[in-house]
Amino acid sequence: MDVLIALLIAIVTAATSSGAPARRDEGVAIAPVDRSDPAPGLPRIVGDPERPLVILDAGHGGHDPGAVSPFGARREKDVTLAIATAIRDALAESGRVRVAMTREDDRYLVLKDRYEIARKMRAALFISIHADAAPSNDGARGATIYTLSEVASDREAALIAEQQNRSDRIAGASLSGETGVDRILIDLAQRESMTVSAEFAALLKREASAYFPFRPEYHRFASLVVLKAPDVPSILFETGYLTNPTDTAYIASPEGRQQIALGMKSAIETHFARKLVRVAAR
Ligand SMILES: [Zn+2]
Repeated sequence: MDVLIALLIAIVTAATSSGAPARRDEGVAIAPVDRSDPAPGLPRIVGDPERPLVILDAGHGGHDPGAVSPFGARREKDVTLAIATAIRDALAESGRVRVAMTREDDRYLVLKDRYEIARKMRAALFISIHADAAPSNDGARGATIYTLSEVASDREAALIAEQQNRSDRIAGASLSGETGVDRILIDLAQRESMTVSAEFAALLKREASAYFPFRPEYHRFASLVVLKAPDVPSILFETGYLTNPTDTAYIASPEGRQQIALGMKSAIETHFARKLVRVAAR
């Protein structure tokens, strides 16, 4: 990191952090948001308080069903909840991370609230679970990982962002109203988060390919509101296509969900094991 920027962060952090310690994540310190006491209404956490926290976000819910499969009329909001629950249970079983879900039942949450939950709870990783739809191409299948970028990687990624962001009608939602030094700190944290998110995307592909299929271009970039927590590495995971009969049978079955959970668990645990090794080497 540029020495001047590092110095600036150190000065501002020292000046603004009365009481609460500054958060340090992968070398970027940012001014602390008030997170001392989780507000009532935040989801329950499963796991050892010493472990890093992973937030699983089951996409859609309540009045927003998401995509509906022509095969068995499976609704995306139900599929995502079942998959997120399976991932949580797999992670809770081995206990290497703490885990919480943005929703555990059929309720609607606006996109900003989903990532704000991750911020307030000081999550180390945010994973939004979805299922794809390509009504005009029922041959499309496999998983895709999205990470944040202001510029979409391709037309399809831009379309996905448009559809997903429409979910709570926040057109062009900005991160916050901060200006000046706060803005610089947020931008730095966001840049670092985007790098870690992209690393996790590559790791997920590597670790999970043995469990479920990915699309050839498995990593795409889009300006997705739900991924805009500046200080929490975040991915949106499209598990497969509800418009493809093979994918639907897989992602909507207990066996398929279990495979997805195992692949995800392997990637998440490897991600945090790597972080520990890096910290120890400092
Ligand atoms: Zn979706």
